[in-house]
Amino acid sequence: MVVGRLTKAVVELVFPARCVGCGSNGEFLCGECASSMPVADGARCSRCWRPGTGCLPCETAPPQFDSLRSAFVYRGVVPDLVRALKYRGATALAEPMAKSLASTVGSYGIDADVIVPVPLSGMRRRTRGYNQAEELARALGRRLDMAVWPSALERRRDTPPQARSADAEERRRNVAGAFHANDPDIAGRRVLLVDDVTTTGATLAACATALKTAGARSVRALTFARED
Ligand SMILES: [Zn+2]
Ligand SMILES: [Zn+2]
Repeated sequence: MVVGRLTKAVVELVFPARCVGCGSNGEFLCGECASSMPVADGARCSRCWRPGTGCLPCETAPPQFDSLRSAFVYRGVVPDLVRALKYRGATALAEPMAKSLASTVGSYGIDADVIVPVPLSGMRRRTRGYNQAEELARALGRRLDMAVWPSALERRRDTPPQARSADAEERRRNVAGAFHANDPDIAGRRVLLVDDVTTTGATLAACATALKTAGARSVRALTFARED
């Protein structure tokens, strides 16, 4: 098993990259697959970016983040990209993905002082070896020439993986209180909170609560993809 995995890693190093979408040789994401990605635009809630007009959740119990924007809808080739970044260690993907994040920041004029990635738990990070949200945050920081604080948030406990069957309230309960903002320097800062994908926004809301508790002036959330 170990040899198999090693061989695979070596093969991926030696041979040219293959498109995560269609498998064609040459690039991690070919031009055709890149242009097929569904952009998360159109009529959406200005706060949580849910599609449609009128957002009951935000009217009744708005999340602690000031806004959420996502570059793409989690459909088509987008899940392949997100999974590749997460499980195949394809950190080279962080660069093109951060390029999309940077244009989303530009399109919506998102102002921030510092980028903070959604953390993994210590155990999950050790198993995987890296945090995909941090890879995106660092690549975005380089592009925007903005400070990245990967340790500003801490995941205090492992939360159960967000099952697709879980409803919004269950997801919110699962992650509420799971995060803690360590860094006293976060006080007064405008934070750009970065993650790879969001489903209900519950994780982002829990992170925003921790950041605001630590005195963050604003928290604008940004993800590569969202499940509509
Ligand atoms: Zn392709
Ligand atoms: Zn909303």
